[in-house]
Amino acid sequence: MKGFAMLSIGQTGWIEKDIPACGPMDAIVKPIALAPCTSDIHTVWAGAIGDRHNMILGHEAVGEVVEVGKEVRDFKPGDRVLVSAITPDWNSIAAQEGYPMHSGGMLSGWKFSNFKDGVFAEYFHVNDADGNLALLPEGMDLAAAAMISDMIPTGFHGVELADVQFGDNVAVIGIGPVGLMSVAAAAIRGAANIYAVGSRKNCSDLALEFGATDVINYREGDIVEQIMEKTKGQGVDKIVIAGGDVDTFDQAIRMLRPGGVIGNVNYLGEGDFVKIPRGDWGCGMGHKTIRGGLMPGGRLRSEKLARLVMTGRIHPEKLITHTFQGLEGVEPALMLMKDKPRDLIKPLVLL
Ligand code: NDP
Ligand code: ZN
Repeated sequence: MKGFAMLSIGQTGWIEKDIPACGPMDAIVKPIALAPCTSDIHTVWAGAIGDRHNMILGHEAVGEVVEVGKEVRDFKPGDRVLVSAITPDWNSIAAQEGYPMHSGGMLSGWKFSNFKDGVFAEYFHVNDADGNLALLPEGMDLAAAAMISDMIPTGFHGVELADVQFGDNVAVIGIGPVGLMSVAAAAIRGAANIYAVGSRKNCSDLALEFGATDVINYREGDIVEQIMEKTKGQGVDKIVIAGGDVDTFDQAIRMLRPGGVIGNVNYLGEGDFVKIPRGDWGCGMGHKTIRGGLMPGGRLRSEKLARLVMTGRIHPEKLITHTFQGLEGVEPALMLMKDKPRDLIKPLVLL
């Protein structure tokens, strides 16, 4: 089969591989919709997780099951399925501890395009199929369905990590597709003011549509000053970080109230240390909590998020700004993510 791969750090290309083998609990799936992710960019061009050779890229897919193992109960060939980007081993100790995304070691629930071949191929392998696939609901738009792999669950996980409660004033730093879904999630959780930090116009417009009360442009002035001014010097209760870099934590701590929580889902591609300002962190005693996490993945989460799509509470299809046809489309779609033109939010590939 054909797949689009990371050949080594900074190098990509088409390769040929054998169709993956199906274990007793697994499924083999062929993609019907795919999307590249900013994480693929950190992985290939920043070498953020180290070198990988001839590893097929991609972890966001909707597909059709072509084969299942003999232990798989709930899926059969021909089923159209939502595929979670994170596919934990659900019978692991880490999953029992509540951290399925770290089953097999830190970040090891993230298998596609990290520890094994990803989904940018004619076929891909899904471990623990009953735990990691969900049926594609009848009538669901494929653009929305593809966002259930990663953009919605990651954006929503940022809000879980930040423990957003009703009435909270919340800042969402970074409003690419992930942060935009965090804005939507914060609104669903009943946040009061939602300050969305970005600079692209279409992202800013969509943030307001998804429930942001204010848009803060980080290119037009210090975001701490802008948010302190909007909150009359109080700062915000909760912060989701879905963009920026290792220095963003410095800004976040400075605009966070004592007792506040930061939920980071940004994949820090570069830099050795995260910066935390000692004084604004209350000299270590300010009760300003920083949590960072890979989203949990799995079937239940996909099914619940699918309900939110089907009831019209969220509109992830609005993230899609560019659409390509055919498997070959993953290459230009990925390059678009790399170049990030100002009119891009998220590309989609339909097969
Ligand atoms: P995008 O690059 O599309 O969006 C990043 C956002 O951050 C944009 O709004 C951008 O603004 C903004 N930004 C960039 N620099 C700064 C800065 N210095 N200060 C404030 N805002 C800034 O990324 P995605 O939405 O696709 O992904 C967000 C992150 O989430 C990525 O790092 C991705 O790898 C990660 N991720 C993590 C996952 C997880 O499970 N934890 C899963 C999936 C993704 P502008 O408008 O100027 O572009
Ligand atoms: Zn992703």
